[in-house]
Amino acid sequence: MKTDAPVCDLCGRVAHFRFAGAGARPVLRCWRHAVFYGPVFRRALQVSAVVGTILFLINQLDVVLSGHVTPLVVFKIVLTYLVPFLVSMYSALDINRLRTVPAIPGKAPAAPPGAAA
Ligand SMILES: [Zn+2]
Repeated sequence: MKTDAPVCDLCGRVAHFRFAGAGARPVLRCWRHAVFYGPVFRRALQVSAVVGTILFLINQLDVVLSGHVTPLVVFKIVLTYLVPFLVSMYSALDINRLRTVPAIPGKAPAAPPGAAA
C-alpha cells in the first residue's frame, strides 16, 4: 500500500516533522529522528546551559555554597537544567510539526509550505 504521506529521510517511516535544511530541500524526520536532529538537539543543550545556569544561580547557589547539598538538592539541580532543555525541544518540535490541512469541499487541497509544486 502506497501513501502520499511524507517519509523520514533516514528510516522511511512516516515523517511528523519538517525542518529547514541547509539546502533548498526541507529535512523530514520521524519522531525518533526528530528528537535527535542535530540542530534542534544542540540548540536545546545551549538553552539548557544558559537558562539552567541562571536558574541554578538564583535558586540553589546559596544552598550549595552553604554545604547543605542533599540528594533532593541534586535532584532539583538536575531538574533546573532538564526543564529548559525539554521546553526548548518541545517548542522546536511543535513549530516544525507537519500538520494536515483539512480538506475544503470543492477546493483542491493546498500544498504544505515548502512543498515542490
Ligand atoms: Zn526516522
